[in-house]
Amino acid sequence: MFYRELENKRVRCELCPRGCIIANNTTGFCRVRKNVNGILYSLNYGKAAAIAIDPIEKKPLFHFAPGSQCLSFATVGCNLRCKFCQNWQLSQEFDEVYGEEIEPEHMVELAMENGVEGIAYTYTEPTIFYEYAYDVMRLAKKNGLYNVWVSNGYTNKDAVKRVSKYMDAINVDIKGDERFYRTMAMVPDIRPIFNALKEYKECGVWIETTTLIIPGYNDSKEAIENIVLWIKKNLGESTPIHFSAFHPDYKLMDIRSTPLHILERAYSIAKNMGMRYVYIGNVFGHKNESTYCWKCGNLLIKRYGFHIVSYNERCNACGEEIRIAGKKWMKAR
Ligand code: SF4
Repeated sequence: MFYRELENKRVRCELCPRGCIIANNTTGFCRVRKNVNGILYSLNYGKAAAIAIDPIEKKPLFHFAPGSQCLSFATVGCNLRCKFCQNWQLSQEFDEVYGEEIEPEHMVELAMENGVEGIAYTYTEPTIFYEYAYDVMRLAKKNGLYNVWVSNGYTNKDAVKRVSKYMDAINVDIKGDERFYRTMAMVPDIRPIFNALKEYKECGVWIETTTLIIPGYNDSKEAIENIVLWIKKNLGESTPIHFSAFHPDYKLMDIRSTPLHILERAYSIAKNMGMRYVYIGNVFGHKNESTYCWKCGNLLIKRYGFHIVSYNERCNACGEEIRIAGKKWMKAR
């Protein structure tokens, strides 16, 4: 899907904004889409390199189908080169395209057999296993399962539009400013990411965002304010924002973990700017893992890590109701 044939058996991939022009017998930047005699093949189709059952809160999605479980899978590959990647063994450092052969029908069967409520396309970037994800998603929907993506948002508009038909919710990383993306993730132009986010919203997909805060790189007051301002203006003040703690990984082993006060400052900035649902992630047991009434501050959903301890959608102090998308599965707990 999403490519054009060029002269001399070359092709142009139009799945993501990188727009690789791929010569015969070579692969694109993501290393999982190969041109064979002028036909672009998805090498990772049906090859699940990681698979697990996770709570939806782990994605993180805090306002979609709370309390549900999802079959989560990934293939190898990525269209970005984040120096801080937490799944770099799968996304970057693979010698060949590997994975357990699981056809879309079988993936959906696995979900049903395990009694989960949905399927998550996660761990690496689902855009680069688009065709595989798309086929699983269509079957999942037919069988009453939800579909959620965890994505870097580096996806072209047509692909976003097409997949949104089967997508219920998405968590998109907003990593930093233009310079951050260029130097830390090899993204030359960030506008397509923000366009993709607007398109998902236009298509009615429930959106939450995550910003991994790396000390000294994207933690300034100005950087956080710019991210929050964009979200508020374009996605709305009820969009849940997750600020996650960085821990040394991959090519950033010499950077310290994010101190708590930096995360708490980001939280305060977003709240003071009028965002209703702001969370601190990767700090188990922190009070800002929980949901508070945006009007009066009353505790409504108490979480510990990925688990819900107590659940209230309506504030019993002021009567305000919080925004929750998708079916609730709290009864399952
Ligand atoms: S999906 Fe892969 S091959 Fe296609 S444009 Fe993006 S990086 Fe290049």
